[in-house]
Amino acid sequence: MVIDLHTHSTASDGTDPPAALVKAAWEARLDVVALTDHDTTVGWAEAAAAVPAGLTLVPGLELSCRWVPPDGGRPTELHVLGYLVDPTHPGLGAALAALRDSRLGRAERMTERMAADGLPVRWERVSELAGNASVGRPHIARTLVEAGVVASVDEAFATLLRTGSPYHEPKQDVDALTGVRLVTEAGGVAVFAHPLARRRGRVVGDDAVIALAEAGLVGLEVDHPDHVPEDREHLRRLAADLGLLVTGSSDYHGTNKRVRVGGGGHTAPAAYEAMLARATGSAPVVG
Ligand code: AMP
Ligand code: ZN
Ligand code: FE
Ligand code: FE
Repeated sequence: MVIDLHTHSTASDGTDPPAALVKAAWEARLDVVALTDHDTTVGWAEAAAAVPAGLTLVPGLELSCRWVPPDGGRPTELHVLGYLVDPTHPGLGAALAALRDSRLGRAERMTERMAADGLPVRWERVSELAGNASVGRPHIARTLVEAGVVASVDEAFATLLRTGSPYHEPKQDVDALTGVRLVTEAGGVAVFAHPLARRRGRVVGDDAVIALAEAGLVGLEVDHPDHVPEDREHLRRLAADLGLLVTGSSDYHGTNKRVRVGGGGHTAPAAYEAMLARATGSAPVVG
């Protein structure tokens, strides 16, 4: 069984529509693929309707969170994967709606600040590219590439869109402990996404993982393209110490990133089965 538990479609910042994504997963000979768009479940229905025979779709999402150290230190952004949640759970639904709303205002302000400085970008175009997706920096990045301001999405992230750039603005992320509890209350399974992906910015220490585990975290995404071998070793040991499951995935984003669906990391069947056994919010879609 080949299992990839982290992918993005055009419902957030991937470039494959949900139906094309499940088709790509099938063509890559995956047995199981999870759709985990940022802060939205809007792609689930299209993906579910398109699951080819032989593939299983795990509906999920990736919740934008921040870890606030109990001693009042600087907050750190982190992502919590929520699998098989009940998408109609009121608490989770309200948190997702607030996150998407914050993304919208922030992306518009970031774009307007660039336009005010004379960069040839318009909010109308960013908004058009995003459609009804959870809008994010990758949509602004693609607009910058289209306008010829930068040569690639990577270059946009390394320059104008990086955290600390005068044009960057943070989103209103959910407190990480609250995020784990919301996923759990919605009948889902919470997994800490790429806990040591340092390329994206600051990462949290083991103290945060311990606190998240106490709040109901079920697993750590150990085998992720952004993790070096030493990080994977450390996380594998931490997961064993805390009784957490280990997952692996591609974090596929279509052409916005280089990794292919099913590339980068896989989840062991036993970990996947253990996740299924805990989930009550929704069911996998068997094609
Ligand atoms: P945002 O959520 O709007 O702050 O944008 C961050 C998202 O952009 C992350 O969740 C990544 O999935 C994606 N991202 C980060 N760096 C890059 C990059 N260099 N190229 C493409 N996508 C990226
Ligand atoms: Zn993304
Ligand atoms: Fe992420
Ligand atoms: Fe992701």
